[in-house]
Amino acid sequence: MGWKTLDDMELEGKRVLTRVDINVPLEDGRVTDATRIERVAPTIADILKAGGKPILLAHFGRPKGKRVPEMSLEQLVPALSEVFGVPVVFAPDCAGPEARSAAEKLEDGQVLLLENTRFHAEEEQNDESFAEEMAKLGDIYCNDAFSAAHRAHASTEALARKLPCCAGRLMQAELEALEKALGDPKRPVAAVVGGAKVSTKIDLLSNLVEKVDRLIIGGGMANTFLSAQGIDVGKSLSEADLAATAKEILQKAEDIGCDVVLPCDVVVAREFKENAEHETVGALDCPADAMILDAGEMSVARINDILDHSSTLIWNGPLGAFEIAPFDAATNAAAKHAAELSRDGKLISVAGGGDTVAALNRAGAAEDFTYISTAGGAFLEWMEGKTLPGVAALGA
Ligand code: AMP
Repeated sequence: MGWKTLDDMELEGKRVLTRVDINVPLEDGRVTDATRIERVAPTIADILKAGGKPILLAHFGRPKGKRVPEMSLEQLVPALSEVFGVPVVFAPDCAGPEARSAAEKLEDGQVLLLENTRFHAEEEQNDESFAEEMAKLGDIYCNDAFSAAHRAHASTEALARKLPCCAGRLMQAELEALEKALGDPKRPVAAVVGGAKVSTKIDLLSNLVEKVDRLIIGGGMANTFLSAQGIDVGKSLSEADLAATAKEILQKAEDIGCDVVLPCDVVVAREFKENAEHETVGALDCPADAMILDAGEMSVARINDILDHSSTLIWNGPLGAFEIAPFDAATNAAAKHAAELSRDGKLISVAGGGDTVAALNRAGAAEDFTYISTAGGAFLEWMEGKTLPGVAALGA
């Protein structure tokens, strides 16, 4: 753990340039889901409590280097001020004279919000002189945007090299949880990887077989693995062109000693729709005119047994077509079991990426997981074993 936290910094009287992810959904200029703002609130509160002056840097949407009024961060001022419970002032740029003057005038107890970093093309180019300009606004750089850390942009990467830097509370929580799950985990470690396709998760599966003791594969991607082994999966979603890749992953797992667990029974239907007529069959027995939409009860019992004998779990992706009942049953049952074990202190469970948060919420399991990452792309890249530029720049 080479990175610093807010506790390691002398914040009194210092202007703290804080990179946050407040890319929240808006409808008619109003914030419809303030979760991302709520998640950075502890960082802002701690900076203020220590006598520091938070100056927020953030992107919003994809304005591609131009000023787009609909993507101005000014719209978020009322929501930020409500969640943080302090006055939030706004500067119409994130670098240059207007930003400098606002930073100089910032009073104790206030938060300054700078305009969308992506209004400057230099942001996404990770431009050094643009980062220098932003660095002039603060004394300390604090990165609290783990979800943007997979991008080497000026406000996430170059800027960290221009000022004394540290992780904010959310970044700290993410890094600590991820370290616990894959960096230096308590063994045995199990991973659940589900979702639609192998093609989007080749690197992830390949990295996980090196790191975990048991890899449970579910969802549409399990069909590709079954089919690669010569099993007829009927009309199921399956990627025939990835048979060789699936076999390579299975071979790598065998060489390393990672157990790959595929469904032993499956729920099949003829239609992809809510409450479609369905039956449970053995994984070898999918009828030619049917498609596999979920894992069966025996598979779930096996998964739950593995979880009972694991100390750590990392989860990405649903075990079936979880949006349409009853094909959410396996995901719900396994997620609930993982949540119970976590609540009883028997399992460290970390989940994130893509549809995972929605699936665990739907299962009513999210609250009891040890940590749920809302970071999406950054979480997946980290599961792939990639170095995240924004994290590396903090000295991790
Ligand atoms: P991903 O974004 O890769 O995590 O995939 C999530 C999507 O995979 C969800 O929309 C699920 O409905 C879908 N999915 C999971 N299992 C199946 C399956 N057996 N057949 C078709 N789609 C599935």
